[in-house]
Amino acid sequence: MTVRVRFAPSPTGMFHVGGARSALQNWIYAKQQGGVFVLRIEDTDAARNKPEWTEGILSALDWIGIARGSYEGPYFQSSYAGEHRAAAQRLYDGGRAYYCDCTREDVQARTGSQYQGYDGFCRDRGLGPGEGRALRFRTPDEGATVVVDLIRGEPTFENKLIEDFVIARGDGSPVFLLANVVDDMTMGITHVIRAEEHLPNTPKQQLLWDALGVKPPIWAHVPVVVNEKRQKLSKRRDKVALEAYKDEGYLADAMRNYLMLLGWAPSGDREIVPWSVIEEEFRLAEVNPSPAFFDEKKLRAFNGEYIRALPVEEFVAACQPWLTGTETIAPPPWQPEEFDPAAFAAVAPLAQTRIAVLSEIVPNVDFLFLADPLIDEAAWAKAMKEGAADLLDAAIAAFGALESWDAESLKSTLEAVGAERGLKLGKAQAPVRVAVTGRTVGLPLFESLEVLGRERTLTRLRAARVRLV
Ligand code: GLU
Repeated sequence: MTVRVRFAPSPTGMFHVGGARSALQNWIYAKQQGGVFVLRIEDTDAARNKPEWTEGILSALDWIGIARGSYEGPYFQSSYAGEHRAAAQRLYDGGRAYYCDCTREDVQARTGSQYQGYDGFCRDRGLGPGEGRALRFRTPDEGATVVVDLIRGEPTFENKLIEDFVIARGDGSPVFLLANVVDDMTMGITHVIRAEEHLPNTPKQQLLWDALGVKPPIWAHVPVVVNEKRQKLSKRRDKVALEAYKDEGYLADAMRNYLMLLGWAPSGDREIVPWSVIEEEFRLAEVNPSPAFFDEKKLRAFNGEYIRALPVEEFVAACQPWLTGTETIAPPPWQPEEFDPAAFAAVAPLAQTRIAVLSEIVPNVDFLFLADPLIDEAAWAKAMKEGAADLLDAAIAAFGALESWDAESLKSTLEAVGAERGLKLGKAQAPVRVAVTGRTVGLPLFESLEVLGRERTLTRLRAARVRLV
């Protein structure tokens, strides 16, 4: 039997990191089993779907390593409406489903104040199809439905506790539960690896598989992803869109490594491992069923490590979108013609060890490409205390007299200027740094000054000095 898995997102919003995690797990499982990965877009909720979300899913998958063209599909659930209706009809024809004209209020009036599921009122009324009549599945009165789940063992659901659920609405349109099963059947899916939130649907879906006479798939419900307050990650509250992480400058390799650690870990005491190790070692059955904490701080730290591990020319290339701006990334504060690739290449190795996400490259290097630095007023106030004017005067004179404009000479010069005033180098650097870069923190100062050049450095120091008068 060829293993066939599917990833079946609904295009109703930005692509969720939890979805990316499930997609990767499906992807790896298929690869390990010599199987096939199918992408199915569940686009039947016409009111909530937008074509651009579908495109967003395809490009997000591509970014994370599930490349377009390397899987089967995308199929679109909406193209299978005929199959969904035919299945509903078969269930009705076979006596496994019946029409029901009860309203929710009717049921509530019969069963008490709180709606606790359908009471089976229409089971044996023999109603035929008609406007406003829903089709309900006749669940077995006895026995139990045992779901085989690679992560959760064999959760067992008593059939008598499963209500006669709706499979087609009053207007005849099949509901998600049925459409999802029929598509899995049509596409020959053998393993359904999906988010835990679908577990309550599973016994109902498995009953549908049985009733339609097809062997149900093996299930694997992967743990819900939660924030630091143990709340399910939600798009209203948390940063969940994979695209948002991408645009902030997370590397795809860091992201997918981190996502695979949600509920699982590779062998040994390691977390940051090459993708090939994850592909080899990942075991679906080892995934911890408890909620998985999406720790953004840890992800940031991961990303920093991945950035540092890049060959410098790859780092330079990876920074490009932030150096120019793209459709989704804001342009930097400098004009394109002000950018100097050689100057950038000179400071890139210094920046590479200091940033955790690629977007941080911009505030680290903008001083090189702007005519005047962007002065952070809080930084200015902090650095330009008593003595700053005198120190700047001395630095201007000493730097102006330097024979060789290099980091080492700049450093020893400022060290001497500081020492004459009883200041340690750190203290002496602060006014110079703010005058030249606009900030109190940034790349190593003297290398920065070397790249910026004598003339521009002195111009900025003088401008700051003027402001201090
Ligand atoms: N379309 C469903 C979702 O996005 C997935 C259902 C499934 O994987 O079975 O939650």
